[in-house]
Amino acid sequence: MAKAKGPKVLIVDDNVSNLDVLTRRIQRLGMEPHTANDGQLAMIRLEEEPFDLVLLDIMMPNMNGMQVLAKIKEDPELRGIPVIIISAVEDTKSIARCIELGAEDFLAKPFNPQILQARISASLEKKQLRDKAEEFLETQSRLQRISHELNARLNIGNVAEIVLTWAMQHSTAHVGMVGRLMGKGRGMKVLAISGESPVLARFRNQKVRIDHPEFERAVASGLPQESDKKVGFLLPESKRRLVFPIKRASIISTLLILEDESDSRYDQKSISFLSSLADLAGPAMANAILYDQVQRANQSKTEFISEVSHELKNPMTSIKNYARMLMKSEDLSEQQINFTQVIERSVDRMSRMVSDLSDVSRIETGYLRLEIEEVNVKSIIQAVVTEMESQINDKKQILQINIGQDDLIVLADQNRLVQVLVNLISNANKYSPEESTITICVAQNEEGMAEFHVKDEGIGIRPEDRDRIFQKYFRASDNGARGQVGTGLGLNISRQLVNLHNGKIWFESHYGEGSTFSFTLPISVAVETEVSANA
Ligand code: ADP
Repeated sequence: MAKAKGPKVLIVDDNVSNLDVLTRRIQRLGMEPHTANDGQLAMIRLEEEPFDLVLLDIMMPNMNGMQVLAKIKEDPELRGIPVIIISAVEDTKSIARCIELGAEDFLAKPFNPQILQARISASLEKKQLRDKAEEFLETQSRLQRISHELNARLNIGNVAEIVLTWAMQHSTAHVGMVGRLMGKGRGMKVLAISGESPVLARFRNQKVRIDHPEFERAVASGLPQESDKKVGFLLPESKRRLVFPIKRASIISTLLILEDESDSRYDQKSISFLSSLADLAGPAMANAILYDQVQRANQSKTEFISEVSHELKNPMTSIKNYARMLMKSEDLSEQQINFTQVIERSVDRMSRMVSDLSDVSRIETGYLRLEIEEVNVKSIIQAVVTEMESQINDKKQILQINIGQDDLIVLADQNRLVQVLVNLISNANKYSPEESTITICVAQNEEGMAEFHVKDEGIGIRPEDRDRIFQKYFRASDNGARGQVGTGLGLNISRQLVNLHNGKIWFESHYGEGSTFSFTLPISVAVETEVSANA
């Protein structure tokens, strides 16, 4: 291998003997001299290859030193190369101007060897420091970007993909993998894999054994490890393997494995970048794993609720049927009739609760399917009102209905639309005083959607409760609301149902004065065109 040469210095001077002297001096300092005898040539050389330092004469024909310097400093690629000006001592004005333009230092002719050496070394040292600082800042900003990317993800697979993509970009690895440690650390579930070879497909989503010494060392020590044997784990042709443990607070969750076709060692810069990457990934991976566990637990809970509600339906139907049969018998005392009515009402309430719980779990598990059809708004409102009449009459409330168009047709699942309307009207009834008015309005809005409003003159909603009103199980804490029976599921289900219809739901409320709950549904396109053609 050729011996590494020292820093590359470009000497720019139109005077051949100056070029000669400087070339020899630079060589003696163990550096690599290159020459250009005018400004234009200097610019060509600088664009062709990288230099560590430029020694630049000011007085040159065609393009003088000052112009060359200005061009260097204008160019973002060249700006960082230190330039030492060569000039006669008395030319102080030009020296000052060059320093203003960004020259690092100056050298007076005739050259003093010691001063020449001192100035060149100082300039090169400063450049090295600047380069290091720049590199450090660049690495920091890259790590910050990675950190943003990682923190924006909660899915284990996504976090693993991000880590692997960055690791592959900043290493010479030809294949890489991120795997989650399983059981007692003897196996690993592959989360992400990268590399061209089709052989790698056999690893995807698989469990692999990790009884390789460097894996065990990485798991035991929590530190990056390099394989000492030239045997591939991911691919047989690999010659070198690096293993980085990804951990949070000394708990190792995953391993990043990189394999290289070449057996030259990784440089310290890459190792330190990859270690920082693994450090950044640790908390993100731990969060993603926790999130995954919470999701699984939630899924099990939802499945449990769904099963229990299903199982409860049969006994409730029996209780209700027997209560009805009892009511039909003629020899019941007044007290027995009352008790039977209480049983019936309680079972009704229970069955509503169970059906709400079952709806929530079906929506959450994605099992709830809508049967969308064309639904006439007027007839559906009439059906709902009939269903709710006795409840409204019990409180002597007045119901006003205002439907903009008789033939307004929406695209909806009829039963689910009834469910949303019953929820909102039932709330208006529950949370409003006797003899108040409940108004139902429906009209086509400016966006071409059907807009439903259920307005009441009830207790209203406190400003501090407004953000939580559609949350699951939320019930306002004021006495007016607590005095009513409820589960806090109705509005949550209504919102999810309206969303499933591609509509939106919202409300306006003044505490102590009343509320209006509104939602939109798509209008059947055929009817919409007819309406706008008639308009
Ligand atoms: P539930 O009525 O079974 O408690 P909902 O999800 O339908 O559950 O409503 C959640 C909460 O929102 C209610 O407990 C009540 O505090 C408040 N709320 C809903 N509708 C109204 C309304 N029309 N007026 C005042 N408060 C309401």
